Amino acid sequence: MNLRQWFFLLSHKQRIWLFGTVAAVLLIMAVGIFVTPPGEPAKSVNVSVEMSIRDIAPKLKVTGKALARELALALDVSKTRPLSMLGVKPQTLQHTAHHLLSHRDAMLKYYFYAALVLGGLVFLTRLGRPDLCGVAHRNRWYPRFPYIASLLLSVIIAGFLLGKSPNPMEGAVKVFKSMVGLYADPTAKVTAFIFFIALAVIGNKLICGWACPFGASQELIYSIPVLKRIKKHKLPFVLTNTIRGFLFAVMLLFLFGIAGGRKGTVIYHYLNPFNLFNLDFETLSILLTVILSLLGSFFVYRPFCQLICPFGFISWIAERFSIIRVHIDKEKCTQCGACMKACPLGAAEGRVYGSKMPADCFSCGRCLNVCPVDAIKYEPVFKKSTNSIQA
Ligand code: SF4
Ligand code: SF4
Repeated sequence: MNLRQWFFLLSHKQRIWLFGTVAAVLLIMAVGIFVTPPGEPAKSVNVSVEMSIRDIAPKLKVTGKALARELALALDVSKTRPLSMLGVKPQTLQHTAHHLLSHRDAMLKYYFYAALVLGGLVFLTRLGRPDLCGVAHRNRWYPRFPYIASLLLSVIIAGFLLGKSPNPMEGAVKVFKSMVGLYADPTAKVTAFIFFIALAVIGNKLICGWACPFGASQELIYSIPVLKRIKKHKLPFVLTNTIRGFLFAVMLLFLFGIAGGRKGTVIYHYLNPFNLFNLDFETLSILLTVILSLLGSFFVYRPFCQLICPFGFISWIAERFSIIRVHIDKEKCTQCGACMKACPLGAAEGRVYGSKMPADCFSCGRCLNVCPVDAIKYEPVFKKSTNSIQA
């Protein structure tokens, strides 16, 4: 749909919403730039294997346990013996020090995530359906451009410009890592976790759908217009969610030392595709995760999100409490299948048929302008009529 056509069909009230939202998004970013300290360049520090973990950890601003884990030592290894006596080689220490120093969280990204989620929320609830355009012309509703723009901004700014961290996936994992003493400031990790979950709950998984840089990378590849002829496949949700949930359970077992015999091991460390944004592929498994997820996106919707991501799994649980989301009016719905066909996964289907465990809805908006009887809306849960099915 032509963006210009859509704009001229907006009512006066909707245009106020549009300009107000653009202003609010810019304001959030301006506040973020103003209040966040400028990123420190990763400077080298003087460390040697003749020093102990207790000497080196403060220089790298990590806990002793975190440094031990990065050096592939047990969490309870002696923190006072020189590293050479623990078998650590000088090259390993230098590589680890560089790695830790270059992986600082860019605090500005939190503001950026909030701004993108706000933009998505207002578009889906207030602006996507122009007031001056009726159901007969519903193909003019919800133009794709605002969504694609949000995805591009996410990849370019929240990804390559601001780097790997923070991101929703790490937010979900670090809160558990802090429970085994891998962070000096667990409160910050809990706050980050609450922040990401709140963005997923306010608007159903909007942080994944509209703002996560790796989610956006996969979504953009899946949506490339010239590749639309490639046959897309929907994976069975029972299978994908079982794999995702299994990995999450295995992560907890290894992290807490219940399996694997070494407390503090984080399996997602070897599958973290956000390393793409630092162009730092520490292990072959990370490189393979990135390549397979991006290649897989030509055929399957967000394969990493569906099969691996721990935040994808946790936010799927949190979806049950989301405040603003897609609603299907049960009275109007004829189960014609139009929304199910438009939905890139089993999300719409699960909701239309009232499944107790429907697939994740990424708030992509594809289903919102295909219903021939206008039974689908994106709105707050408290506005929902008694005849609605949540989607
Ligand atoms: S599920 Fe996908 S979009 Fe959501 S945090 Fe994980 S990688 Fe990002
Ligand atoms: S098309 Fe599917 S994933 Fe997208 S908003 Fe609709 S139900 Fe959610």
